[in-house]
Amino acid sequence: MNITSKLPNVGTSIFAVMSALATEHRAINLSQGFPDFDCSERLQGLVAAAMSEGWNQYAPMPGLLRLRERIAEKIDLLYQKTVNPADEITITAGGTQAIFTAITTFIKAGDEVIVIEPAYDCYLPPIELVGGVPVIYSMQAPDYRIDWDKMAALVTPKTKMLMFNTPHNPTGTVWSAADFVALQNLVKNTNILIISDEVYEHLVYDNASHESILSYPDLYERSIVIYSFGKTFHTTGWKMGYCVASPLLTAEFRKVHQFNVFSVNTPIQHALSEFLASPNEYLSLNNFYQAKRDFLLTATASSKFRPLPCAGTYFQLLDYSQISDESDVVFARRLTTEIGVAVIPVSAFYSDGYDGKVVRLCFAKKEQTLLQAAELLNTVC
Ligand code: GLN
Repeated sequence: MNITSKLPNVGTSIFAVMSALATEHRAINLSQGFPDFDCSERLQGLVAAAMSEGWNQYAPMPGLLRLRERIAEKIDLLYQKTVNPADEITITAGGTQAIFTAITTFIKAGDEVIVIEPAYDCYLPPIELVGGVPVIYSMQAPDYRIDWDKMAALVTPKTKMLMFNTPHNPTGTVWSAADFVALQNLVKNTNILIISDEVYEHLVYDNASHESILSYPDLYERSIVIYSFGKTFHTTGWKMGYCVASPLLTAEFRKVHQFNVFSVNTPIQHALSEFLASPNEYLSLNNFYQAKRDFLLTATASSKFRPLPCAGTYFQLLDYSQISDESDVVFARRLTTEIGVAVIPVSAFYSDGYDGKVVRLCFAKKEQTLLQAAELLNTVC
C-alpha cells in the first residue's frame, strides 16, 4: 500500500515516549503530567453507584443537563459569569477532544491560526489536518512573556483564530488582566476566534487567582473555552472535560462533536454532577499543589538545577545550563536512563525545536516520590 501521511512530521507524543522510557529504565516518572495518587474515594463510589443504578447507556449528545447546570454554577461562583447550561456548555472526552473538535469545526484550508509556543502537543496537528496554516508566536526562556506588539505583527486578513493556554503548560506562567486587555485590543473589529485552554484553572499559586476569558464579555463572544475534570479531580484517565462557548459557537461545535464522539461516558457524568455540588472539592486545590511545588523546590535547593518561576499548573521548569550544554532531548534521556528521573525536554513543545536548556518536571506526585526524585537530582553535577 502506498499512503501519503496527512501528518508527515508527527511522531509518537513526547509524553508517551518519556513515560515508556521511564518504565523501561525504572526511573521515577516526572515526565508525563498525571498524579501518582488516587482520586477521591467518594467520587469513585459515585461512579460505581451510577453504574449500579443502570446509567450505562448513551448520555444526551451535549452531556447530562444536571452536570452542565452544576458547571454553570461553578462558573458563576468563580468568574461571576452567567452561562446557559442548555446551549453554552458541552461535555467532552477531555480537553484534547474539545480542542480537536473546536479546530476542525472552525478552521478551513488556508485559514491562519496563531499558536503560542511552547505549545501543548495537540494544538498543531488538527490545524494541519484541515489544511490550516499555523502562525507561531514563540515565547522564550527564561520569562516566557508575550510582547503584544510582536503578536500584533502576526495578524493578517487570513487570521481566523488565536489559541492560548493559561495557566500555561509547560512554563507555569499565567496571564494577567493586562494580557487580556492586550488581547481585547488585538481582536477588536476583527472576526478572529479564540481558543482559551484553561484546564489548569484551579492550579494558580502565591495568592493569585486564575484570570479567565469568561470574565471578558467581548472576548467571550468569540471564544471556545476549554476545561478538564482530569486535572481538577485527579482523574486524567477518565478523559472528561467540557467546552464553554456562546450559543452561536456552541451550535457549530456540537455539529462536529456529535459525529466525533456523539456523547461521552454516562456514569461518570452522573457522578461528577453530584461531586461538583460541593465546591470544597476543588476550592483548595491551589494550596494542595502549591505545597507540592514548594516541597520539590526545597528538596532540590542544593542541586545545580535552577528553577524558573512557576505561577501555576503542576509543572516546574528546571534550567540545567550550569550542569551541561547537551541538547535538552539528550539531557532528558540521560536523566531518565542514567540518573533515574524522567522529565520532558521543553524543545518538544516548539515546532522549530528551540532549546532553552530547560526540562519540565511534573510535581503532581506524593511527597515520597518527589523526595526520591530530588535526592537523585541533587547528585547531578
Ligand atoms: N497533559 C499531560 C502533560 O502535559 C499529558 C497528556 C498526554 O499524555 N497526552 O504531560
